[in-house]
Amino acid sequence: MGRTATERVEGTAGGFLFVGEALALDLVNTEVVVRGKRTDLLDAPNALAAWWRAARARYPDAFGGAGDPAVSPDDGALPAATALREALRQIFGAVADGRDGRVIAAPDLSVLNRVLATGYQAVVIDGGGALRPIVGSRDTGPDGTLLPVARSAFELLTTKDPARLHRCSNDRCVLLFYDTTKSATRRWCSVGCMNRARSAARYRSHLAEKAASALPPGAATGG
Ligand SMILES: [Zn+2]
Repeated sequence: MGRTATERVEGTAGGFLFVGEALALDLVNTEVVVRGKRTDLLDAPNALAAWWRAARARYPDAFGGAGDPAVSPDDGALPAATALREALRQIFGAVADGRDGRVIAAPDLSVLNRVLATGYQAVVIDGGGALRPIVGSRDTGPDGTLLPVARSAFELLTTKDPARLHRCSNDRCVLLFYDTTKSATRRWCSVGCMNRARSAARYRSHLAEKAASALPPGAATGG
């Protein structure tokens, strides 16, 4: 039986999760909780490059079809990537909590908008003579490289249903996702997380029952 993505992360810290259904959410999801401890999967520049390759394979459309493999974050891009990730965590967190946009701090929005501002749209003629839209960045630095992530956030925040953006219902989990199910009933980042949360709840109610039955006779009714 195949292991879930969460189990992979718990097994090997180098694994990445793609459970968010949006590139921007899965950048945020590079911070995970492993055995109760907050863990940053982008803890080194080569980790960012590895995530980038995996993200391009998972979300080819967000990178403009296959994406340009030549455009990949270099070592200097890690601080920009983690700054964008933190800003997106705050912004998406506010949306997931159903908060008014005014609770979002201006600097967080500025981080996102600065990356978006490097982008442009153009029409090009492809090899077959057809007109094709492209999106490019004027910035050859980290902000320009991160444009696909910022555009994913832009799309999520402006064209999707905010009521479908959720935090995982396991209160020990920090992952975010966009619910794409027809029934709009997804509440967990993964089946593994749902099972862990449910068994933790069962354990807590078992402890509560044990505590109640351990009370001296009459104590429960107040005498
Ligand atoms: Zn979860």
